[in-house]
Amino acid sequence: MNVTVLDIEFEYNGTMQIINPVVLQDNDFLILVDAGYPKQRIQFEESAKQHGIQLEKLTHIILTHHDFDHIGSLAEFKRNYPSVKIVASEIEKEYIEKRKKPLRLQQAEKVYPSLLDKDKPKALIFHKILESIEEVKVDEIVTDHQLLPIGDGIEVIFTPGHTEGHISLYLKESKILISGDALFLDEQQLKIPHPEFAYDVEMAKASIKKLFNYEIDQIICYHGGLLKGNWKEAMSFEN
Ligand SMILES: [Zn+2]
Repeated sequence: MNVTVLDIEFEYNGTMQIINPVVLQDNDFLILVDAGYPKQRIQFEESAKQHGIQLEKLTHIILTHHDFDHIGSLAEFKRNYPSVKIVASEIEKEYIEKRKKPLRLQQAEKVYPSLLDKDKPKALIFHKILESIEEVKVDEIVTDHQLLPIGDGIEVIFTPGHTEGHISLYLKESKILISGDALFLDEQQLKIPHPEFAYDVEMAKASIKKLFNYEIDQIICYHGGLLKGNWKEAMSFEN
């Protein structure tokens, strides 16, 4: 199985940002893990092409969770490639299909009354962005420890905390963990999500402890990219 980390670089709120979606490929499947901010499909395709991958052949999109920077271009992908199967946990499905209000929007609405008047217009723009994310039907539900039949197997690991139904993926053959947002990489330090962007911080920590049961050689963080070497030493929080 080929594992390719995409570098999607773009300007957001005046600063340059990079996200690192992953493409997994074997003879039968072409899988994209997470689908970016809104309006990034073409950039994804161009980035993949530089690695010799044609996203036109996409078979599945696996979503680690429903945040707008992970499902922002999902509807556009589905419109352009109608046969693509969308995969997520049962809990995240509720948000992706918009039966539940996005967690980030719930949090933003909660703090809105306490904001200074000068900050309120900007906050409302953020609310609008979150509200504008289109719902997409989830085709396949995955559960904790489920083994997906690609390469030597991809194990789904339920890693809630950042969101309620967050999943990470463990590639058995290469001992790579695709962490989604369960772990962030910042200057080679692994961090758990900031409490402001967490559903439940204690739950997030418990999820990381669960990862200690796995033999992990490399971690790919959606924010921060690839960490090689001893990931336990790169942890910057108390367990
Ligand atoms: Zn997130």
